[in-house]
Amino acid sequence: MSHFSEYKDLIQVGDLALVWISRDNIKPVTITAGETFNTRYGSFPHNDMIGKPYGSQIAVRTKGSNRFGFIHVLQPTPELWTISLPHRTQIVYTPDSSYIMQRLQCSPHSRVIEAGTGSGSFSHAFARSAGHLFSYEFHEVRYEQAKKEFEEHGLFRDGNVTITHRDVCHDGFTIKNTDKTTFFDDKNAEEGQQPARIDADVIFLDLPAPWDAIPNLDCVISQDSKVSMCCFSPCIEQVDKTLEALEKHGWTEVEMVEIQGRQYESRRQMVRNLDDALQRLRDVRERKQVGVERRKRMFNKLISDQEEPYEERPETPKTQFNPFGKGSRVKEGDSNYNWKEVSKVESEIKSHTSYLTFASKIVNKARNEELVQGIIEEHKE
Ligand code: SAM
Repeated sequence: MSHFSEYKDLIQVGDLALVWISRDNIKPVTITAGETFNTRYGSFPHNDMIGKPYGSQIAVRTKGSNRFGFIHVLQPTPELWTISLPHRTQIVYTPDSSYIMQRLQCSPHSRVIEAGTGSGSFSHAFARSAGHLFSYEFHEVRYEQAKKEFEEHGLFRDGNVTITHRDVCHDGFTIKNTDKTTFFDDKNAEEGQQPARIDADVIFLDLPAPWDAIPNLDCVISQDSKVSMCCFSPCIEQVDKTLEALEKHGWTEVEMVEIQGRQYESRRQMVRNLDDALQRLRDVRERKQVGVERRKRMFNKLISDQEEPYEERPETPKTQFNPFGKGSRVKEGDSNYNWKEVSKVESEIKSHTSYLTFASKIVNKARNEELVQGIIEEHKE
């Protein structure tokens, strides 16, 4: 079984692989001996994939033609999952999630609260990097679906992911063993008498009303380290209400940003000059004139009752490629033409789905003498 958090070289039976058909079409497939993966470009037997290295291109001849259809079999990563997952809700895309993770300094030391889980897009990225992810979802069906997916993707394997069925605005974030949660499933089963220790220092709220959840955070956030939070809201009115709640509940360093992600490609563009444009206009005028005269001759033949009014269309020489019009295709960079370097923006990139409001809180501002002395000693050596 392949996992999101572990790399392996070869495709094996039982692996969850992501099959890249095209940029907008990536499909999750569980590799099963004897099964076939069907696409409109051809049918790909899983047996052709088994034993090949991840990243391999698999080709099949398209039925009734001499052409081939191709797919690539890729190992799952949170980024690929984000662009291939079944949407149950709006999701957070990688340009936003990567920025948020680094702003919140999410690391293997971080204890993260995420609400709501939604389609689990961001949860996969958090699960890879965080020390512990506590994800909350109040929609029961979505909770069950996310739990099943996390299980299938091996996210519970290291014991650092918990999902809880909970309305965090009404019932807060504390997790008890009477709750519908994965926290007490195995690793933490013995702790069942006590509520789960959360001590979160990273908070991510992707909820319609984060201002109702913010007052509930105080009893589950870390008391002795800086806590960083991000609220993800599509409307500026939501940002305004969130700011009010953050201020009221003692959050500081409040800042709102939006990501306008762009990907620039370095390309070459044919240099266009006035002579090309003039030549193109002359070509068009010449062709038009030839056509008008041909039609005139045919009309005259028709009214003078000649038997064969139609005449063959004259062979016109193929136009050279002209940057202002159609013609034979020229390969980018062809040394017979002049080119200039340009950058092109990829328009498809998914970003600015929401405003990101960041804030932080330090609960206990007292100096920890013991910690300070420890650091001083460490640096003396
Ligand atoms: N960040 C998620 C992702 O990347 O896939 C998408 C989250 S989706 C936009 C918001 C989710 O929050 C929905 O699934 C909704 O059911 C859940 N939700 C809304 N209010 C909630 C609440 N008070 N407590 C827990 N979950 C809530």
